[in-house]
Amino acid sequence: MKYWTIAIMALGLSLSAFAQTQYWQQEIKYDMQIVFHPEDHQFDGVQHIVYTNNSPDTLRSVYFHLYLNAFQPKSMMDERSRNLPDPDDRVGSRILGLKKDEIGFQHMKTITSGEDTLSFEVNGTLMEVHLNQPLAPGGELQLKTEFRAQVPVQIRRTGRDNKEGIDYSMTQWYPKMAEYDYDGWNLFPYIAREFHGVWGEFDVHINMPAAYTIAATGTLQNPDEIGHGYNGHPQGPIEGAADRLTWHFRADRVHDFAWAADTDYTHEVVENENGPNFHLFYLADSVDVDNWIEMGNYAVQCADIMNEKFGVYPYEHYSIVQGGDGGMEYPMLTLIVGDISKSGLISVMVHEFLHSWYQGVVATNEALYPWMDEGFTQYAQMYVLAQFFDRDYRGMLDGMMQRYNGYASSDIAEPLSILADHYETNGAYGTNSYVKGAIVLHQLNYLFGEELFFEAMQNYFNQWKFKHPNPRDFKRVMEQTSGLELEWFFNYFLYSTQQLDYGISNVEAKRKQIGFMVDRIDVIPMPVKVVVEYEEGEPDYFYIPLNANGVIRQPDLDEKWQVLSPWNWVSKSYSIEYANDKRKVSRIVIDPDHMTVDADRTNNVWPEPKKEE
Ligand SMILES: [Zn+2]
Repeated sequence: MKYWTIAIMALGLSLSAFAQTQYWQQEIKYDMQIVFHPEDHQFDGVQHIVYTNNSPDTLRSVYFHLYLNAFQPKSMMDERSRNLPDPDDRVGSRILGLKKDEIGFQHMKTITSGEDTLSFEVNGTLMEVHLNQPLAPGGELQLKTEFRAQVPVQIRRTGRDNKEGIDYSMTQWYPKMAEYDYDGWNLFPYIAREFHGVWGEFDVHINMPAAYTIAATGTLQNPDEIGHGYNGHPQGPIEGAADRLTWHFRADRVHDFAWAADTDYTHEVVENENGPNFHLFYLADSVDVDNWIEMGNYAVQCADIMNEKFGVYPYEHYSIVQGGDGGMEYPMLTLIVGDISKSGLISVMVHEFLHSWYQGVVATNEALYPWMDEGFTQYAQMYVLAQFFDRDYRGMLDGMMQRYNGYASSDIAEPLSILADHYETNGAYGTNSYVKGAIVLHQLNYLFGEELFFEAMQNYFNQWKFKHPNPRDFKRVMEQTSGLELEWFFNYFLYSTQQLDYGISNVEAKRKQIGFMVDRIDVIPMPVKVVVEYEEGEPDYFYIPLNANGVIRQPDLDEKWQVLSPWNWVSKSYSIEYANDKRKVSRIVIDPDHMTVDADRTNNVWPEPKKEE
């Protein structure tokens, strides 16, 4: 029960700080000049930053993330990984063993604003920069930073020489300004989990030996000076190229910039007339090339399904890049491992590309609400994979719900409201963020009906694209689209580990009268669907609305359902009785489509099915 206090505190917050009545967000323009030195895996960087304070507050400091500093012995990332009962085996204790030339670092040399040199303090992966003048609401800050950085041996997401031989996986690689939003400064040290950033523009120049092919967020501005498979050019540098090339990328309306480089990348472009085009970057020697080409074709189909069902992908291209340590999403680009089975490859590609919707474009704060990007992505992934392989996404989710209930009744279960880095086990983080997050959507699908649910998801995307929605913003779109008041629903699913279980009891099926009880056995209330089947003739379909915050009833329920009087949520049982004209009841079943996250399905059916030997 120890999570009760946290749950109650989180609820208090939800009623005040989370309401975004007057939405604003900060704005940034990065201009970066990078000179890369492969001989010692270091690079020099200069940033010109223009930062607009759209907040109602005066800022006296600004903060940056220096993520590469996490890859040093005894960093918070290292220590946390060594202390967790179930560490990510990609990290384990590897950071502790890094030598001086294998660690990552981000050495800040100078930070200036106009003529003034600014003082700064580095604290692990965070840096505070003291402004010489307060930055008033509506004010603009110009900053210039100069730094030298070292790319660590690849351990988690970023790094050099990944296990498949990719030279540079360049993510979380530059001094990145922390986001200031309705929650104030988001000062999350880099420990394991994911990101939050300022919306804006990136103009990035990377100078590197000409043999490297670079894949990056944004659009290459000078393909004809580069070659390397861009703009119809063959692989490799343009004819007559100098020893080094300067690559110029631009990206607008994004909140991060990632890239990767290798001397052996094959770069293929998969054209897609409905948009976006897909760029594939892989090592032809280390992957099954046919699988990669086929995966590119699946990506086109995936875009079609997503554009129709969840909202339209807004950028002109997307890059699927072999690199990193599994699959990780960045704006307009993903790094994935390449040498895996075809089905694994397609599944990882779909997941990471779908993060373009939930994280890339609808940019929730992943440190606070990982379920809103991982869970929503997982849900859309089930939907897309079901279309690809001719399966029913509801069946896939049913399996997921069964597994979830095992976790929810275990002693590692934590509420969905825990900060991403603060879960006590990776297992609880993973199950909550990916599985329970998807289940939240599936329960809304049940409450609204499929058509209205997808309309609500489209509305959410369109209303919150290029912004930072929080759970309350999501709840409001769901409420506005469905017309239902969902405070009870979100409260149970976000701030508790409570479960749902309905059952049937006291069945009396007589010649003149049929009667039975539906019981709320566990805590979470829901509207209930009940089907009574007879040995002859049509079944009866009963729908029991829930009286929670107003009457919760699926708005466009099919006519076959007889809507009964609402079930007051305080009642533990609900009685159904009606006249019978000698029909013999063969079966009574609640939640016939397995749409709810019911913890015990054996009591959903009368007579209880015989246990299989
Ligand atoms: Zn994900």
